[in-house]
Amino acid sequence: MTAAIIDGKAIAGDIRTELKGEITELADKGVTPGLAVILVGEDQASQTYVRNKDKACAEVGIHSEIYRYPADLSEEELLQKIAELNNDDQIHGILVQLPLPAHLSEDRVIDAISPEKDVDGFHPVNVGKMAIGKEAFYSCTPYGIIKMLERENISLEGKHVVVIGRSNIVGKPAALLSLKESATVTVCHSRTKDLSAMTKQADVVIAAVGKAKFLKKEDFKPGAIIIDVGMNRDENGKLCGDVDFESAKETAGAITPVPGGVGPMTITMLLYNTVQSAKQKA
Ligand code: NAP
Repeated sequence: MTAAIIDGKAIAGDIRTELKGEITELADKGVTPGLAVILVGEDQASQTYVRNKDKACAEVGIHSEIYRYPADLSEEELLQKIAELNNDDQIHGILVQLPLPAHLSEDRVIDAISPEKDVDGFHPVNVGKMAIGKEAFYSCTPYGIIKMLERENISLEGKHVVVIGRSNIVGKPAALLSLKESATVTVCHSRTKDLSAMTKQADVVIAAVGKAKFLKKEDFKPGAIIIDVGMNRDENGKLCGDVDFESAKETAGAITPVPGGVGPMTITMLLYNTVQSAKQKA
């Protein structure tokens, strides 16, 4: 059996097309969704992410503003800018690109963003709402996974989902959102004993570890659905996931590739959350 390959790029494309339609409807009401992105410092990866977000906004018709600051920006200045954007009616989403330089507190900065504009879903109010199963802005990568599965007609109800990773931006929210979908959820991390015994029990594995080709075919039950969040470089410098795709696809039921799986869904969900925020205001 060869796995079905879940085409995240195509699914993301479909969602972006739908968003364009919603943005046109909003335009009839005189509203253009607006996203403000704050970038502090010169981190190369962050620069690329911000450029990609800006480009994606332009493609679907979201107004985006990028605020670039030097690495020595004071926290007070940053908080002041966030307060200004919180009160700006043209802006429906605010995103501060992480990581921040060490002298800036990520907690205080995220706390300063209005939960109604926290389209990244990192504010404790949104995280709390997610934890109690309420509607909120959900963290884009795990939300993208849920949407992707929905589009593939893969229900999580009653399935055993094993999440590997417990970060606040991927692992934990992926576990909470799977639970919301009525899955039975196991969360694994670096202290988990016999990880392979855990993953072998899973109907669905969500791998968010950050280690190239860390999981092999033998770690999965035949027919399992494998969602690979990892974005790593292999020994040849080629982008790869946490799962050894070539071997795992021989026995998996379905699998996401890297690149072209979870990655394209992440920015798409940022656009999605921004449009939902604008709709709420309209
Ligand atoms: P992270 O904060 O570094 O978390 C990694 C998690 O993996 C931690 O919970 C860690 O456990 C666990 N882990 C590490 N070694 C392990 C082991 N040997 N066995 C079991 N668990 C282990 O990373 P992250 O931000 O969640 O990101 C994870 C991966 O997803 C990275 O490759 C990142 O680049 C990628 N990512 C992709 C997207 C996308 O859009 N596709 C978005 C975000 C992240 P402890 O908690 O015990 O340390």
